[in-house]
Amino acid sequence: MQRRSVEGAVGRLALAAAGLALRGHEVLWQGEGGRVFPEGGPATLHEVPRGLGLARHSADIVLGGPDPIGAALAGWLVRARCMVLALDADSVRRWGHAGRGAWNTLHAWAVIDEADGALLQADPRGPDPERIALWPPQGPPTAPDATHPDTEVLERVCERALARQRGGAPRAGVFMDRDGTLVVERGYLSDPAELELLPGAVAALHELKAAGLPVIVISNQSGVERGLFPLSRVYEVMARLRVESRAAGIELDGIYFCPHRPEDGCVCRKPGTRLLERAAEDHLLTLRGSFMVGDKLLDVETVQRAGGRGVLVRSGYGREQERTLAGALRGAVPDHVCDDLAGASAWILATLESAEEA
Ligand SMILES: [Mg+2]
Repeated sequence: MQRRSVEGAVGRLALAAAGLALRGHEVLWQGEGGRVFPEGGPATLHEVPRGLGLARHSADIVLGGPDPIGAALAGWLVRARCMVLALDADSVRRWGHAGRGAWNTLHAWAVIDEADGALLQADPRGPDPERIALWPPQGPPTAPDATHPDTEVLERVCERALARQRGGAPRAGVFMDRDGTLVVERGYLSDPAELELLPGAVAALHELKAAGLPVIVISNQSGVERGLFPLSRVYEVMARLRVESRAAGIELDGIYFCPHRPEDGCVCRKPGTRLLERAAEDHLLTLRGSFMVGDKLLDVETVQRAGGRGVLVRSGYGREQERTLAGALRGAVPDHVCDDLAGASAWILATLESAEEA
């Protein structure tokens, strides 16, 4: 991802983009990154020069605004698929033919203040209302913040843009539990330095991604509401997961987690299906036909409730959970049980293949 300068109408977008870097996304930064990160910023934020040299870099999405011409040009140089611009009703009104043309050259989305929302949505020359997201009403953070709602809004807009630019009908995806499934179970993992991908996880993810399946992490992180660690810690660990996966050639399509305790009665904690539904909406997935891999029966139950199929892996708590299966009178029964993610990936691919043949 790439964006232009830190000042003016796009300052809020700049802060949110820096928040994305804190979430482990690779952000190419044109301008002075030091202004948002006095200490230099995370390793996922790279300052790049302006001008044609930008063509040496590539990015999926170009961030900027409110001028679509400069953003579209930058997007063209980095071979971006989408553009997300911070807009306001006044700037859109001033767009000429060139501006409107530039807006239409890339799959473009807008993020705007609520006050401008009605104005822009009523303007027939403005962006498609389907491609407008609103900034949260509480205003921007004072410094880049992975936990801030602005960062969340921008991350989801980017994911929605990519999924819709890709086009086609909603497709199956693979939801993945984190602890004990993808990474070594540590018991309330909160230190990024302790994150360790399980053996074989990378190869399995490669297989799934090569088959065109989006991989989305769905995690219960009740340690937050239990007071064991702050919310920011979850993002730090998730950022490490993104960075480690990327180093192995895997770009995770999405990460969703629930910070609540079981007794909070929320709908997002697995086996609640809310996070799957949100991911399906953001990434254009069909839940019926999707899979979830996890080391607990609640992972299996979550996806089955949503109409998909669940795989129990024997890593993490999986072996223990498998033992409870035999005596259980009720509860989720996995569609498949195997040793690890490699086995899960092989089964998922074989299942999809035989469905295609049928
Ligand atoms: Mg687990």
